[in-house]
Amino acid sequence: MADMPDLSHLTQEERAIIEGVMMRQKQEEERENEIMRRKQDEVATLVDSIRQKSEQQKKAGVELEATCHICLKTKFADGIGHICHYCNIRCCAKCGGKVTLRNNKVIWVCIVCRKKQELLSKTGQWMNKSTSPDGMIRRQEGD
Ligand SMILES: [Zn+2]
Ligand SMILES: [Zn+2]
Repeated sequence: MADMPDLSHLTQEERAIIEGVMMRQKQEEERENEIMRRKQDEVATLVDSIRQKSEQQKKAGVELEATCHICLKTKFADGIGHICHYCNIRCCAKCGGKVTLRNNKVIWVCIVCRKKQELLSKTGQWMNKSTSPDGMIRRQEGD
């Protein structure tokens, strides 16, 4: 361990205390990493399942224009629904929500991007592993 502080001037007892503290810190870090890993898995699984579902629907010839692209269940009464600010996915009120930015701008964010944002705020990394289902879903722009 290169970053171990020099503890040679301390008594054995003091050293044991410090080492104990460092050990707990390390365990704490590992636990947090584990939580982050699980959250990342969760988001990846969610993205995958949404993509699979939309592929199935597409194969079945189901028209998705007026349907939530996340749960694929909710039909939009107004035919438009809400568009996610980040991935432009069309989703229902159950699969997304309003988010107020620091500049007081209110945007709509889908559940997937919200989870990604949560991760982003903790890891500082945007998850780019999974591509958005944009390529597979035909979207009507300009409304
Ligand atoms: Zn939905
Ligand atoms: Zn989104």
